[in-house]
Amino acid sequence: METWIDIPKNSDFSIHNIPFGIFSTKNLKNRVGIAIGEMILDLKLSSELGVFDHLTFDFSVFDNKFLNDFISLGKSITNDVRLTIQKELSDSFSVLRNNSSVLIKQSDAQMHLPLKIGDYTDFYSSIEHASNIGSMFRDPSNPLLPNWKHIPVGYHGRASSIIASDIDIHRPKGQVLLPDQKKPVFQPSSRVDFELEMGFVIGKKSNLGDSISTDEAEDYIFGNVLFNDWSARDIQKWEYVPLGPFLGKSFASSISPWIVTIEALDLYKVKGPEQTPKVLSYLEYSGMKNYDINLEVSIQPEGSKESIVCSSNFKYMYWNMVQQLAHHTINGCNINVGDLMASGTISGKDKGSYGSMLELSWGGKNPVTLDDGSSRVFINDNDSVIMRGYCEKDGKRVGFGEVRTKLKGSK
Ligand code: CA
Repeated sequence: METWIDIPKNSDFSIHNIPFGIFSTKNLKNRVGIAIGEMILDLKLSSELGVFDHLTFDFSVFDNKFLNDFISLGKSITNDVRLTIQKELSDSFSVLRNNSSVLIKQSDAQMHLPLKIGDYTDFYSSIEHASNIGSMFRDPSNPLLPNWKHIPVGYHGRASSIIASDIDIHRPKGQVLLPDQKKPVFQPSSRVDFELEMGFVIGKKSNLGDSISTDEAEDYIFGNVLFNDWSARDIQKWEYVPLGPFLGKSFASSISPWIVTIEALDLYKVKGPEQTPKVLSYLEYSGMKNYDINLEVSIQPEGSKESIVCSSNFKYMYWNMVQQLAHHTINGCNINVGDLMASGTISGKDKGSYGSMLELSWGGKNPVTLDDGSSRVFINDNDSVIMRGYCEKDGKRVGFGEVRTKLKGSK
């Protein structure tokens, strides 16, 4: 597939990708676009030019602050929209080519949170991450809790504090139990951390009481984003017993602005790790359900250069998305379009692939040296954390761009 648009080599936004997002410019209010190379194709304007006239749906879904209405049209429409765009961007005689106003430079646009997120669930599905945490806080010889290999463990998080890329956050304050103390103190967290995760967006609702099988699950997934699940380790450590994460997590999570459809990721499917012991039948699945997505985390101190601190891959996940969704709904819990599910921290086997500072610095014991000579055990004030991800196979690259968030001092 060739396109008449000039796309830089190694662009995440090749003709094979066509990810959806919400953008605005000085002159255009929030609307739906797709990323192609360094440009954004304005789908509202494209629809006015008749590009989608062969499809039957209400084009006002493109004149919208969120993607929920578009996604709600269902895959039979949204996949056709994506394929139509691919065809138009490949066709030298496309009407789009003669209307330069449909293409906007990404550098001239602002990206927004693409979804109205109803519910958000976070899993804990990387065996390397769960084992690292278990080794640090419990028993290195037996790091996994007895349920871990039977259940994709998860918890219900907070949707209101999920933010777009390029929005600053503040160091959270809360209760912390200092070493060798019996009573907590109230103070700014001194252990603010990132968690490298992938999020997936629900594209189809289910009804209360119904369960989604692993065979059906992909039909309910619209696409994926990069997900930085900000965490305050000291607040988390004091509060999490017995009901799990709360204020140590809910102050912010950031997502990348472009939703890459699972259809665009199809080429990059790989086999997942062997699951032993055998999982219960509702968690069994057939085919390849893991994805080979290269992931990277950088820290950029204020006024300094970026240092890569982690290189991981989504393919390491022990529990995959279809198992997570089957488990989430096995009790009849319903899901809605725009719900967001996150994978849990994605760590690999090597030290450089650990997806959080908690693991990289091993609980704060081993500082990580950045390229500018400074060192970190957790995230400092005015550091930006940047996550990137892409797939590559047969000369075809599909990527996510980045999610970038600066941590400012406490309010
Ligand atoms: Ca998490």
